[in-house]
Amino acid sequence: MARINDNYLKLAAGYLFPEIGRRTGLFREANPDAEIIRLGIGDVVLPLPESVREAMHRAIDEMGTEAGFRGYGPEQGYGFLREAIAAGDFGERGVEVAADEIFVSDGSKCDSGNIQEIFSSEARVAIPDPVYPVYLDTNVMAGRTGPADERGAYEGIVYLPCTAANGFCPQPPSEPVDFVYLCSPNNPTGSVATREALTEWVAYAKANDAVLLFDAAYEAYITEDHVPHSIYEVPGAREVAIEFRSFSKSAGFTGVRCAYTVVPREIEGRAGDGSRIGLQGLWSRRLSTKFNGASYPVQAGAAAVYTETGKAEVRERVEYYMTNAAIIREGLAAAGLRTYGGVNAPYVWLETPRGMGSWDFFDQLLEQAHVVGTPGAGFGSCGEGYFRLSAFGKREQVEEAIERIRANLAT
Ligand SMILES: *Cc1c(COP(=O)(O)O)cnc(C)c1O
Repeated sequence: MARINDNYLKLAAGYLFPEIGRRTGLFREANPDAEIIRLGIGDVVLPLPESVREAMHRAIDEMGTEAGFRGYGPEQGYGFLREAIAAGDFGERGVEVAADEIFVSDGSKCDSGNIQEIFSSEARVAIPDPVYPVYLDTNVMAGRTGPADERGAYEGIVYLPCTAANGFCPQPPSEPVDFVYLCSPNNPTGSVATREALTEWVAYAKANDAVLLFDAAYEAYITEDHVPHSIYEVPGAREVAIEFRSFSKSAGFTGVRCAYTVVPREIEGRAGDGSRIGLQGLWSRRLSTKFNGASYPVQAGAAAVYTETGKAEVRERVEYYMTNAAIIREGLAAAGLRTYGGVNAPYVWLETPRGMGSWDFFDQLLEQAHVVGTPGAGFGSCGEGYFRLSAFGKREQVEEAIERIRANLAT
């Protein structure tokens, strides 16, 4: 019999969302008439922008002609998209990122999950708690940890607690690590890293020869002027940081699939013989070996996001979701709950009432208000006592959900 990768057996039993699905399914079976509102999984609900659809239609028609047909594209992405990204997401904001430092993919989940492959299996990893589960689980699968303890903490991981006391912003650890995951605007807590916090992280990375893996999937949701949109706004970050961006949450691409990773030419790691090796070459090599590029119609659609119409359509969607976030934040505050986030991120992170466990609060909202959210404990032990509500919903549903939660908490 084939020997399996035993590291998979270390993974905490249920991935969070299947467990939410299981509990919701059981409730639905027992209560087929209940109208359930889902503000759980972070998936967009508004339709794809028209400019994107038109560009995709045109690309498909081109593919149907002899002159316009395209087979395999460059693994790193088409030049037209990499140029549009470099100018639209960085150049126009005064940030230096060149087109050949951009690697287009079919999603940030894959990118942020795959990046660990270019590092040693012995590398020390620092991960915020609570966290987007992908960063942690992919390192467990790769064998960088021991088993989990009864609180779900894996041996060998350097956890960075994010609590109300530190504004849910991870602080550099007191020990050296090889790489660190950061996510701002944050999923699940909705917090953002300030320029000062990112400056501290860059200094930590330089002092310890560490690499920062900066996930900016929610960059489009930043509303406050002082919040950095890219880690490369911090001087020196090009030498220590890799950044992930995605079209999923900004342009509604969760079902279309397009994202990119920035690996600046300056950033290096250390080989077994002590020599310094550029990470850009390693990531490019990984892509060309294991990936054959995002599809041409999808990349054409992504490029349309940078047109004037595209930008306006994205802005409109972001504003819609952020109005939802404000309704959630204000509604919960009026119901007496303490909330965080929801200002520069489409997530509101709330403290459960009366110190309730986050899965107990999940069950209460599901059974009594028929609203599905996400228990904080599912994102890490520091998420216990918290609960995430997503602003990705239709306005009427969000309003109705908040009304129901308010009524439920009043009883
Ligand atoms: C949604 C999300 C992404 C984007 O994932 P895609 O695979 O590009 O859809 C990346 N990081 C975080 C933290 C997310 O929540």
